This record gives sequence, structure tokens and C-alpha cells, in this order.
Amino acid sequence: PVLYPCDAVLVAIGQENAFPWIEKDIGIEFDDWGMPVLNPQTYQSSLSNVFFGGDAAFGPKNIITAVAQGHQAAISIDLFCNGQKVEERLPPSTNLVSQKMGIHEWSYDNGITTDDRKIVPLVELTSALQNRALEVELGFDVQTAFVEAQRCLNCDVQTVFTDDKCIECDACVDICPMDCINFIENAEEEELRQNIRVKAVNVEQALYVSGELKTGKVMVKDEDVCLHCGLCAERCPTAAWDMQQFYYQVTKAASACKK
Ligand code: SF4
Ligand code: SF4
Repeated sequence: PVLYPCDAVLVAIGQENAFPWIEKDIGIEFDDWGMPVLNPQTYQSSLSNVFFGGDAAFGPKNIITAVAQGHQAAISIDLFCNGQKVEERLPPSTNLVSQKMGIHEWSYDNGITTDDRKIVPLVELTSALQNRALEVELGFDVQTAFVEAQRCLNCDVQTVFTDDKCIECDACVDICPMDCINFIENAEEEELRQNIRVKAVNVEQALYVSGELKTGKVMVKDEDVCLHCGLCAERCPTAAWDMQQFYYQVTKAASACKK
């Protein structure tokens, strides 16, 4: 933990952005929507010693974004307080780490479940109508919460293909429950999307295309439908497929963020 001595901490929790309490003449510029004009990398306002983060920075998003912005603003504040340039900060780092623990064992829960999504139980409608302050969602019991959590698609675990290990035996093609692996002739992206066994219709999701293999074909995978189940990597006799976890690390405030 990083400790900062201070005189007071003001905890302010609200449900919408409203800054009428900030005097208009102190130097903080606001846009037409009443939001502060900020540097999107440093979260510094037009008044150099004032920083914004979370919903107050660019409007409501999700809590993950708010926390990430808080981290970035904290780095800026730390650099600013130490007389350094807030723009000069270490970039984030990324890494892929194999999750293999045995031939059929992964460090994540890769089982596929076809269970329907559980419905969150609600209080009786009559009780909810009688008391508008009553919390309507009761939440899951522990058992249901565990089952629900196992529906996780493990989006942080990626299929990673190594071209020169592949012997084009098609074993991964056979076992993939989503039919998303293909070994075909290379072509322009639009054509590849049509040529694979199940057409790749979500054009916002890039295709995974290998380099040229020994037969002159390429491996084409539609990432949009992959379940991250790891069956391709379990079946592959040459470990050409691997399941690797994606790590995204950002610098934290204080000494670690300084070069
Ligand atoms: S991880 Fe599962 S769904 Fe994805 S390509 Fe491999 S076998 Fe298919
Ligand atoms: S199972 Fe492995 S070796 Fe066989 S085609 Fe798939 S990636 Fe290539």
C-alpha cells in the first residue's frame, strides 16, 4: 500500500455528474455537457493541479474503467507532486503465460457448461410495491453463485498457435465444439470469412490467421465463437496449440511509476 499523509479525506458519492459547486472562474474548463475538459492520458484538467477520474472524468462507464482511470489519475498526481512531467510515464506492459499443468489439465476451469443463465430471485411483487425502499433483488444463494460463476468464458485465456509445430493432422478441427478452426487456402479477409466452415459474420472481431504451413494452407480461426475450452490444445499431438493467459499490467503510483 501507498500511504499519503493528509489533513482530510472527503468521500463524495453521487449518482450523476454535477459540478455547480466548482467556481467557474478558477480555471477548470468544462465542455458543453458540463464535463471537465481533460487530457485523456493524464486526467489533468485545464487547472494543472486538479485531476479527475472515474465517472467524473468522462461520464458513466463501468467500475473497471473507473478504477483504471483512478490509477492513471493517481500516477499523474504523484508525478505532479514530485515536480515531474505528468505525460512522462511508463507504458502498460502485456504478457501471455501458458496455463498448461498436464496433458489434460489447465490452471483455469475450462469445462463447458450448457446451463441456462440462473435467474436472480426477487422479493414478492406485493412487498416490493408496498415499500419502495425495499431491495428487490435477493441475490443468489452460495451454491447457485458457484454454478453461475462457472459459466465464465475465460476471456483472458487465449488460444495461441505455433505455425512450425503444426503437422496439419486436423485433430483440433475434429474436436473443436464450435467448428471454429480451419485449415484452408489463404485469401483476402472477406473471402476467408466466407470460406471457413462456419462463416465469420462478426466483422468487428479479427480473424486469427497463421503463417503459411507446409502444405501451403493457413490456419484460420474465428475468435468470435471460441469457448476457450482448451480441447484443441489437449488434443494436439505436437503442442501447436497452447492456452495462454493474457496479463495487462499498469504502473502504480509512487516510486514504481518513475523512470
Ligand atoms: S478453445 Fe475450444 S472452442 Fe476454442 S478453438 Fe479450441 S477447441 Fe475450439
Ligand atoms: S491438432 Fe495440432 S498438429 Fe494437428 S492440425 Fe491441429 S494444431 Fe496442427
